[in-house]
Parts: sequence; C-alpha cells; structure tokens
Amino acid sequence: MRESAPSITANALPVDELCAALIRFDTTNHGDGVSAGEREIAEYIAGLLQSSGYEPQIVGPSPERASVVARIPGEDPTLPALLIHAHTDVVPVEADQWSVPPFEGIIRDGYVWGRGAADMKDMAAMTIATVQDWAARGIRPRRDIVLAFVADEEDRGDHGAGWLARQRPELFTGVAAAIGESGGSPSLVTDAQGRERRLYAIATAERATMHMRISSTGRSGHGSRPNSDSAVRRLLDATQRIAQHRWPIHLSTTVRAYLERSSAALGFPAELDTEQGVLSTIDRLGPAGTVARFTVRASTTPTMLSAGGKVNVIPGRAEALLDVRCPPGYEQQLEEEIDRLLGDDATREFVSLAHSVESSPDSDWFRAMEAAIVAHDPEAIVVPFCMGGGTDAKAFTPLGISCYGFAPLGLDSEGREVHGVHGVDERVAVESLIAGQRVLATFLESV
Ligand SMILES: [Zn+2]
Repeated sequence: MRESAPSITANALPVDELCAALIRFDTTNHGDGVSAGEREIAEYIAGLLQSSGYEPQIVGPSPERASVVARIPGEDPTLPALLIHAHTDVVPVEADQWSVPPFEGIIRDGYVWGRGAADMKDMAAMTIATVQDWAARGIRPRRDIVLAFVADEEDRGDHGAGWLARQRPELFTGVAAAIGESGGSPSLVTDAQGRERRLYAIATAERATMHMRISSTGRSGHGSRPNSDSAVRRLLDATQRIAQHRWPIHLSTTVRAYLERSSAALGFPAELDTEQGVLSTIDRLGPAGTVARFTVRASTTPTMLSAGGKVNVIPGRAEALLDVRCPPGYEQQLEEEIDRLLGDDATREFVSLAHSVESSPDSDWFRAMEAAIVAHDPEAIVVPFCMGGGTDAKAFTPLGISCYGFAPLGLDSEGREVHGVHGVDERVAVESLIAGQRVLATFLESV
C-alpha cells in the first residue's frame, strides 16, 4: 500500500447513502432466468468506478444479465491477487407487508432500509466506498485487487459468478483468495462466567449443495388390479429410508476449529471425539452453537414427490427430489451410503451439484481478517465457521481460489442489528456499515 499523487476525486457518497443508492435499483431475481435491473445497476457501479479512474468491464451472457469486473493493479505484480465479490441481485419482496417501500433506499432511525440492505448491497457499497477513497487519496494496493459485482446469486449463479468462472476465467488470473458473502460481523454471546462477549465468525467452508432426483420404475396397470411391482411403493420405501437416516457426525477442519476455538475463548470444554461429546459441546455454546448444529453432519431432505396422472391408473414411474447438503470431505461417503439406502428400489441422478468449499482457517488470509477485526474491536473473538448453505464462493473455488465469507459489519452503539434478510423490512444499521467499511479497509490495506 503506497500513497502517490491523488488521482481523480469522485463525488463520492458516504457508504450509507451509497448503499441506499444501490437499493433504489430494483434488481429482483425471480428465478428460472427471470430477473430485473442487473444491467442498470452494473452501469451505475461501472460509472462510479470509472469516475475514480478504474477500468471496469461489464460482462455477462446477455446484455441484461450483467456483472461488473475491475482489476485494480497492485504495486507488486508478483504477489497473488485478491478477489472481492458481491452480488447485485436480490430476492423478491412481498411489498404489502413492509413498513417502508422496499426499493426507495430510505435512511431513517439509524438504519438503511430496503431489499438488499444486508444481502448484500451493504458489502457492495463498502467495497465501492473503499476503492473510491483509495482513488481520492492516491492509494494503490500492494497486490492486484479484482472487484466483481455479480448478477444472479439468488438463483443458481449460472448468469453471474458461475458464468464468469466458466466463460471468463482470465479475469481472475493470479487470484489466490477471495472474500465475499457472509461472515465477519459480530454476534453477542455469553461466556462461561456469564459475561457478554462479541464473536466474529468468518466463513472458511460451505457444505456441498447436492440436489438429487431419485426415480423408481414398476409395472403400470389398472388401479383396481394392484401388482407387487409398484413404482410408487418402491419410491416411498427408498425415500423413507433416506429421510429417516441419521447421518453420522463428520467434523470438517473448519467445524472442528469453530467448536475448539469458540469453546476455548468462551471458557467451555470441547469434547469432539464422540457424537454425544460434539452435541454437548454445541449445547454448552448456547446461541453460538447454533451455527455449527447443521454443519456437523450431512442432511438429506425429501422436498418434492411426483407420480401418476390419474387415480385409477398405476403409474410406471415415480420420482422424488431431495435437497442434500454435505460437509466438506464427506461427499464420497455420502454418495456410497445413499446408494446403499436406495438399494434396488430407485436410481439417482444430480439435478444440480455444487461442491463444498473449504479454505484454511490458519492461512495468512484468515489471520489478516482476524487482525483487521481485532484492530477495531480489541476484545473480539474471531473464529472460522462453515455455512450450511452456499454462496458464489462455490463458483470461484474451482478456479483454485481460496474463498472466505468476509463481509464485515461493525457494532451499533444502540444495539441495532441486521434485520429481514430474505424477509420483511430488511435493514442494516448505518453505524454498522460505517464501522464495517473501516474493518474492510484495514484488511485490504494490510494484505
Ligand atoms: Zn446474498
């Protein structure tokens, strides 16, 4: 990081107003390839970056499904680059249930209100504000920083991060690590002495998302003449076995580190050698244990069933869809066990498969994020965690990038918290945004 002659100074907005400005683009992703506003917001962001002297590109599979990518050249081209990614799309709203219009970007009562305020136009705003500030102060990062503001995260990413990683991998040449959605924000927890502590969890892992179709076949015929070779019965038997299966505990490196480090910092014992020990360790952590509960094992949840078209006809085929989530490092065992449970009753195929993500919770990257948080909150407890679901990190991981969920927010002095992600009255505290941007800038200026 070096200061040189200041370049163009943009008429930069404060981070809260920038977040509000981004919210005013209705970028609703309706799923199944239908979305709005991604082009308009991409042009707006590209314009901001351009007026700070950067060279953004608008890219995507079609003019509407637009993402913005910019590379900020670092002082030392031999250092591996860092990617910062944030999605620009948002989930739909049920506007009649909101107490404010969801796309007006209202700043009131210490909050920025609106769809995307916390998922994740906040991070997009903090990132833009930071690089605008660099431009104004003539600061150049030590290593290349690649910015990606991407479409389509709220569906499957096929028109956003997935497309970029598959079709434009050269944009990420030399990128060794990435920061993006989820992680780096404080939650209040209670330690063994009953004192309130602040726990900041950075995502270093994500379970795999494996959506699976299982199919059974049998003899079709008249409903009045049952036969023993029934597709419906076979499917129900196989689905039942999978739904009732109790998956064994499988602690990934991240989840083990989460349980060990949180327990140590809060003064609780960690017993991780047996299932009962793991469950007790989670229980002792109280609310801090919740984040680990769904990531210590796989889950296989039947969500859709289909068979038959008429009540008096025995169908020859029956299908179920399963939402399967798998801890890092357990994928092969999981597939083998599912095959055993299906037996001869059904076959399986993946409808979609996004592999798990795991980056080292002991890397220099992680330590730099931890140091940035501690620099602004000396009493912070910083731990790695595994996400139960997924983010665009799944798309960038196959490029050999170590992905971290780090979109830091700070504390609000009056206890305002993020509210309404994917729900009603989504909002983020102005103070949290301002403090979060400081943490982000400290991290970026340290690596
Ligand atoms: Zn999101």
